[in-house]
Amino acid sequence: MKNVVLLGSTGSIGTSTIKVVEDLPDQLRLVGLGAGNNLELLTEQARKHKPAALSIGDPVKAEALRRSVGHSTEVFSGNEGLLKLATLDSADVVLIAIVGTAGLQPALAAIRAGKDIAVASKEILVMAGEIVMREARAHGVRVLAVDSEHSAIFQCLDGKPRESVRRLILTASGGPFRSKADWPKERFADITVERALKHPSWVMGRKITIDSATLFNKGLEMIEARWLFDVGMDRVSVVVHPQSIVHSMVEFVDGSILAQMSTPDMCLPIQYALTYPDRSPSERVNTSFAHLGSLTFEEPDEDRFPALALARRAGEVGGTLPAVLNAANEVAVEAFVQEQINFPAISETVRRTMDAHTVIEQASLEQILEADAWARKEAATDAH
Ligand code: NDP
Repeated sequence: MKNVVLLGSTGSIGTSTIKVVEDLPDQLRLVGLGAGNNLELLTEQARKHKPAALSIGDPVKAEALRRSVGHSTEVFSGNEGLLKLATLDSADVVLIAIVGTAGLQPALAAIRAGKDIAVASKEILVMAGEIVMREARAHGVRVLAVDSEHSAIFQCLDGKPRESVRRLILTASGGPFRSKADWPKERFADITVERALKHPSWVMGRKITIDSATLFNKGLEMIEARWLFDVGMDRVSVVVHPQSIVHSMVEFVDGSILAQMSTPDMCLPIQYALTYPDRSPSERVNTSFAHLGSLTFEEPDEDRFPALALARRAGEVGGTLPAVLNAANEVAVEAFVQEQINFPAISETVRRTMDAHTVIEQASLEQILEADAWARKEAATDAH
């Protein structure tokens, strides 16, 4: 039995994780659930799974939660609460599925407490991948990938050393504006929030759905892959694969390529991260190649989607620049969702914020957090 703490239990990844735990009641148990604002859903999850501890953002909501779940469950709140959950004595693995950067400190706390972490929140590896991986090595714990692309690469690598890798090939669906014929660059300024929120193959949270439309999601994943698998950015490439069946590939030094495939369902990589190194049966995914007919691949269009080049630059320069890219993007996405800026302005805001930043190499956690805060202010000014 593996004891799981789930941070971000009320979100898209969080609710899929709960399905996986319910599929495998003899192998997985929820001992901690953390959420931001959604009191109603967290209460429902707590009543059903009876974890040892809960946390919610607002202390007033924590009081309400305490009244409805009874004395056998400890209830915490705010960032402090997330740290308590991440270091629960009974936890074996902490799955971090909080959107944005609030998961970074809990991830580090979990590692230092000797827990394996399963990371959906790519932002934390983008910001502080070097520190997170260094701490994980020092404490002898695993950093397991939940993102479908990184889970695919992890499965293809299967423990092979990085010297055997020529290239990691991340697949991208291309998002809703992939077709140049339907969406030439000139039309990008007319893209509405509603249109950008319609993803062709995945149902996900709001922020990542917009990131998939701009391809910033893939950019963040390139940096995430660089740290998770300890390869230079020059060995991380992207290919557009609209069917989202090949979740990513590894090209080895002998030219051989391994791919991991299935019909898209986030329960699959979540389950693999939680049951690793075992594979447990699941009826959720059945892939029929005959039904699919064909799988296609194309080059990403870097002219219409500048996010990839910006992410490559951030990953290559390193230091505080990836944190700046990530923070500026978060602010710009929110400004787009609030209809304060148009779609192309998301990447323009990120570029200008990156240009204005003085990079600190070999940055400490404090310097990274300062750069994050600086970029949020700078991008907010830019976006208004
Ligand atoms: P959602 O927006 O659906 O969910 C976000 C979760 O984070 C919610 O449970 C929310 O709580 C919680 N949360 C937000 N802020 C805080 C906070 N300060 N403290 C505690 N909890 C907080 O996002 P997704 O599930 O889509 O994405 C989560 C992460 O996983 C992101 O980093 C994303 O990039 C990554 N990811 C997502 C994939 C997907 O398919 N959705 C695929 C791969 C990676 P509440 O709702 O209660 O406010």
